Amino acid sequence: MSFVWTRRPPGYIIKTGAVAARFRINFLYPTFELVETFEIDNLHITLDKLGASGYSKVSYPLRYGRYAEIKTPGHLFHFNLNGEVKFITGRGKDWPNPSEWLKSTVSGDWVYYSTGGYDGPYDCFGEYYLPCLHYASNGINSCDPFEDHAVESAIEALGPLHRKLTELSSGVLPASLGKFLDLVKSKPPAELSKKARRLSDIVGDSITVLPPDSRHVDYDLVPLIIADGCLYKCGFCRVKSRLGFRNRSRQNIDAQIAALRNFFANDLPNYNSLFLGQHDALNSDPGLLEFAAKRAFEAFDLKNSNLQDPCLFLFGSVDSIIGASFETFERIDRLSFKTYINVGLESADPQTLSGLRKGITAEGVRTAFAKIVEINRRYERIEVTSNFVFGPNLPDGHIESVLGLLGKHFDHHCPKGTVYFSPLLDADISGWKKNIKREFYKLKMKIPVPTFLYLIQRL
Ligand code: SF4
Repeated sequence: MSFVWTRRPPGYIIKTGAVAARFRINFLYPTFELVETFEIDNLHITLDKLGASGYSKVSYPLRYGRYAEIKTPGHLFHFNLNGEVKFITGRGKDWPNPSEWLKSTVSGDWVYYSTGGYDGPYDCFGEYYLPCLHYASNGINSCDPFEDHAVESAIEALGPLHRKLTELSSGVLPASLGKFLDLVKSKPPAELSKKARRLSDIVGDSITVLPPDSRHVDYDLVPLIIADGCLYKCGFCRVKSRLGFRNRSRQNIDAQIAALRNFFANDLPNYNSLFLGQHDALNSDPGLLEFAAKRAFEAFDLKNSNLQDPCLFLFGSVDSIIGASFETFERIDRLSFKTYINVGLESADPQTLSGLRKGITAEGVRTAFAKIVEINRRYERIEVTSNFVFGPNLPDGHIESVLGLLGKHFDHHCPKGTVYFSPLLDADISGWKKNIKREFYKLKMKIPVPTFLYLIQRL
């Protein structure tokens, strides 16, 4: 239902209202809210749109939380509650696919969401959309959407749109529209490229890699570093921090939280999830981990987020998973989050581990995996997931060792304890890249737990 109710100033702005149903908790009891829309020249502006209130895996574009939208003849722009552009979709015939879009991440990176062609990415990645990154990673897609003129033009269209909005004087506009435009005007497109630096200044390091499980919340999370570095400094790793492992102090965590509240500002209610960094938060002091998770939950008011089901993501390691007591996992299980802990096991084959220059033993990997299986069995609100490397030049014993490890613990399908295979970055994979999906499917069929490829994505 929609209706025109006012015209101000005459002949220039048409303000219309639309009633939208929001099904927040219960489909039987929707709440009805007013959505304001405005027509200005060839811009169609909608304020305070209501997206879904929980993350879902769907094969069509779905937006979450609250946002504003500006439709131009060429594009559809979605703005977050800070007036920063978050999504762009092309509306012209040259746009690669009407179901695909560009996303600007919290660090200002552009990511193109591809449907992945005929066979789709779900079986490989566990999602209906494949995030295509504009920086070097371990992606397996052979085409680069950022070379498409329509995609490039969509990003460039932000400049003229911003100039046009700046020319509109907020003084003569309806208050809600003026407020929105003031926010957008305060965030020129050039500011997007500064967000990564601002964020790394706040948390004290760049978040070079997110756990694969953060795909469950479309990588939309608030970062908080509770411990720097990692334990192994593996030879094959391209995302490791230059810092040695060290817990942060509680004061440092509180300072990060205060600065993050300012950084996320009005858009904070559109987040429900937390990443505790950096590469091995499970190795930090258990009291510190609990302190940080509870403090962030309160300070970011995640209980009242526009999105339900808060999630906590962190990395663990072979040594931290073995070393953590079950009491630690009981404390994690009692948090207000569902927690995903991702552990890099890499291989259970000594020759492979040695080639990767990872300072762990095959015996350590077997012990850690047995503990992972036990944690997943005991704790309903914790899922520990594992990573193994995947590549054409690994020793013959590698895949055999992984299948042996899994076969020892599972004799039937188990829906919990996802296993990820991470295509190696530095392998000579020009020929293998074409076959990677086929090779992966052959492997996946032999594994009784959910199994996907790990696309390494930074925040
Ligand atoms: S793989 Fe993990 S443990 Fe190894 S260097 Fe990289 S971040 Fe550190």
